[in-house]
Amino acid sequence: MKVEKHYAWAVVGAGPAGIAAIGQLLDHGIDGRDIVWIDPSFTVGDFGNKWASVSSNTSVKLFTDFLQASLSFEYDKCEYDFGLATLDPMQTCELRYMVEPLQWVTERLMTKVTPVKDKIHHLKLHEGHWQLSGEHQVVLAQQVILAIGSEAKSLTHAGVEEIPLTTALDKEKIKTACGSDDVVAVFGASHSAIIAVRYLLEEAKVKQVINFYRTPLCYAIKTAEGFLFDDTGLKGQTAVWARQNLHGQDLSRLTRVYADSANVARHLPDCQKVVYAIGFQRRALPMLDDLPHIDYNPYNGIIAPGLFGLGIAFPEAKIDRYNVVEYRVGLWKFMDYLSRIMPLWLNYRLQA
Ligand SMILES: Cc1cc2nc3c(=O)[nH]c(=O)nc-3n(C[C@H](O)[C@H](O)[C@H](O)COP(=O)(O)OP(=O)(O)OC[C@H]3O[C@@H](n4cnc5c(N)ncnc54)[C@H](O)[C@@H]3O)c2cc1C
Repeated sequence: MKVEKHYAWAVVGAGPAGIAAIGQLLDHGIDGRDIVWIDPSFTVGDFGNKWASVSSNTSVKLFTDFLQASLSFEYDKCEYDFGLATLDPMQTCELRYMVEPLQWVTERLMTKVTPVKDKIHHLKLHEGHWQLSGEHQVVLAQQVILAIGSEAKSLTHAGVEEIPLTTALDKEKIKTACGSDDVVAVFGASHSAIIAVRYLLEEAKVKQVINFYRTPLCYAIKTAEGFLFDDTGLKGQTAVWARQNLHGQDLSRLTRVYADSANVARHLPDCQKVVYAIGFQRRALPMLDDLPHIDYNPYNGIIAPGLFGLGIAFPEAKIDRYNVVEYRVGLWKFMDYLSRIMPLWLNYRLQA
């Protein structure tokens, strides 16, 4: 196994959060030679690989704001005509429009720091440094940002074939995963669940959808102080469709039932296939010696001295003026959060 030199900073993950972290470290004057960036593929994380054809819940403008927020991205020097620039800034779009510019930024940042194609499987303290062991290399760093992403949660109901969420949220793939004879269950009531219900009805044209929900539909609404239910509420085209179709309208091919055990026992046996759109959980962490149950502070991202979490795996908690606590997930939110906490992270070191 090759042992690398010591770095001041290691960023694990090259999804949108990892990209933002590299940009902010460089913007704060950290020398790129002191930064190692580790990811198995450097292809914009799950955002680029799994969710590209999902309809966004944020505006085109917020994507552009993200690209322009870090001077080190040098997005003003980009000469490509990405489709993103042709869209109405106030509308939502398929995430694919943001993937191309993010890939361009990734490739630019890779020339400024040390990129390492690897997957970290072990993290431990070693002589005053964090030691990160991958499949091919071991690197040492004073400070580490984990931006490792999350995975869709699942359930294990017997007798129904699970359609992966990545398929259910893809207009084309869903057509090949189901047919007009299928009765399909969808668990959940969030943005992802409602997109899945819509695509099953309109794209796959299945015989019947049974939507099992635990909470009423929730919409993001703009107030004078900002959005209420900004992170949990339906937005954009998905919100418009839900209002038109899911408020007691008589959709013959859709049944919505509360997901208690009696309703599940009654309706699930009618279904051949199931989509679980019930949220996300942090991807398995690189194993940490002595800290089997590590957690993070959701107000500042600190996991341990010199160890920080960012992105969908470690979102910022925010309490709004109505005392609603929401976890802020979205590209612009990662950047906004980082710009506030980076000064703290720069100072919260292993060594004084
Ligand atoms: C369906 C859906 C729709 C969304 N819509 C929007 C939207 O409209 N607007 C918006 O702003 N946000 C949206 N988001 C939220 C968010 O922007 C994305 O989830 C985004 O992908 C999160 O970025 P991330 O960098 O935290 O994680 P990821 O994109 O998952 O990237 C994590 C990276 O870390 C790597 N990694 C993991 N473990 C290791 C390891 N041990 N060693 C090395 N590398 C590792 C992974 O390979 C991956 O490349 C959406 C999310 C989902 C799921």
